[in-house]
Amino acid sequence: MFVPSPLQLYVHVPFCLHKCHYCDFNSHERSQPDWSAYRNALIAELKHWSNTPQFSGRNLHSIFFGGGTPSLAPPALIGAIIDTARDCCGIENNAEITLEANPGTADSGNFRAYRQAGINRLSIGIQSLDAAELQWLERIHGPDEAVQAYHIGRDAGFSNINLDLMYGIPGQSLHEWLTTLHSAIKLSPEHLSCYQLTVEPHTRLAATHAQKPYPLPDDETALSMFFETRKYLSNAGYDAYEISNFSRPGLHCRHNDGYWLYHDYIGIGAGASGKWDIPNGEPAMGMTRYSNLRSPESYIRAVEQQGVATNTKDILNCQQAAAEACWLGLRRKSGINRTEFKQRFGFDIWQHFHTPLQPWHSRKKLTVTETSVFIATKGLAVTDAIASSVL
Ligand code: SF4
Repeated sequence: MFVPSPLQLYVHVPFCLHKCHYCDFNSHERSQPDWSAYRNALIAELKHWSNTPQFSGRNLHSIFFGGGTPSLAPPALIGAIIDTARDCCGIENNAEITLEANPGTADSGNFRAYRQAGINRLSIGIQSLDAAELQWLERIHGPDEAVQAYHIGRDAGFSNINLDLMYGIPGQSLHEWLTTLHSAIKLSPEHLSCYQLTVEPHTRLAATHAQKPYPLPDDETALSMFFETRKYLSNAGYDAYEISNFSRPGLHCRHNDGYWLYHDYIGIGAGASGKWDIPNGEPAMGMTRYSNLRSPESYIRAVEQQGVATNTKDILNCQQAAAEACWLGLRRKSGINRTEFKQRFGFDIWQHFHTPLQPWHSRKKLTVTETSVFIATKGLAVTDAIASSVL
């Protein structure tokens, strides 16, 4: 019998005080967003999706307010979405409910109100603790505000805090990166996300970099940063449960883990996306996904007129969905459980993807056991290449 995965809710808050030049998220500079109109649209869209056959009657396992800058949102808006989610879908008792915060907007009254509204996990985008690096990134905060935001979060009652950090910033040495990492660990967060800066197409950074390249770290330095990060965080008691994510034991981000496990999710807000498995007996036969209009104003207008703001919709067959699930699942340290994969897609992952995966296995970059398939230590540096080989 088809058993649906745990269900998650993603809420996109697309507004920022300033658009950082490296950012390719769906974020829009707005000094005075129309919060009331945006809240009404989010509520209407959530009500719509919660009544659809694929999502109706399913409790939420986690909720994530991402952005943009969700910490710009009035606490009443956050509370209204959580209340609507509880009424329309139901929220599991111990659900993880995360809000992303920019240190430049940290406000102790708001943080307390978010906590009271039901947020139980904060994810703070500190990125660096070096003033010059933060300035280069065009962040709206300095290192002192980043540290202060963390303490404001703790004082507001958050016992589960993630810090987002970035390495590979132009001119940054390995020593400078480890200095930031060391200072971040001293704060004792439950979770750290450490991503390498990449020059994404269609960003202002890409345009200026094309004209006059920035001194990005060479491959050898970037690899040293990657492996030293793992070593450093492991020694400090953090588990590298995903290629870029580290947590205290048992405190991995359940919401993001759900994406890598290819679970179903409802996405609401401008540019948000959602997905669900298509049940057709056993196993699941494929997947449907949608994405919303990206401009906040177009999103609001579309929801006012139609109840949804769907911009694209794709249906993946079983083969395509299995490939995508494999690509995502290989990011996790524990990789992919072969039994669960077979129950879901009807074939064994190792047999089905033998042609693309065998070369990695023979070079000892991929480990295959009776129960699972996962990236070996020797393959960590080429995780993206291994995972992408199945697509
Ligand atoms: S604050 Fe975050 S979402 Fe906003 S522009 Fe900067 S990187 Fe993008």
